[in-house]
Amino acid sequence: MHEMSITQGIIDLCLEHAGDRRIRSLNVEIGELSSVVPESIEFCFEACSRGTSLEGARLIIVRVPGMGQCLECGQETPLTELYGSCQHCGSNRITILTGEELRVREIEVDD
Ligand SMILES: [Zn+2]
Repeated sequence: MHEMSITQGIIDLCLEHAGDRRIRSLNVEIGELSSVVPESIEFCFEACSRGTSLEGARLIIVRVPGMGQCLECGQETPLTELYGSCQHCGSNRITILTGEELRVREIEVDD
């Protein structure tokens, strides 16, 4: 399962950073253009964190909206899908600026 391995990756990263300390919360950015479903991550997190120092930690998921820059007209345009088109000129030659994120932004540990 896609989300399961992603979640495991997030957990491994947190454990690596925290060492022996207990993790209180973690902040994960998920772009709206990524194919990752936040609810699935939450579900997998419950299961995968059991028995680790992440158990009971608060998982905060931050959604990052999709933004692109149009290569035709040069303007920035909001994107709701990976291969969207420019809101201004309709072109689909777009460089994606944000929305593909999948990263741990912050980890809060006990002192
Ligand atoms: Zn455009």
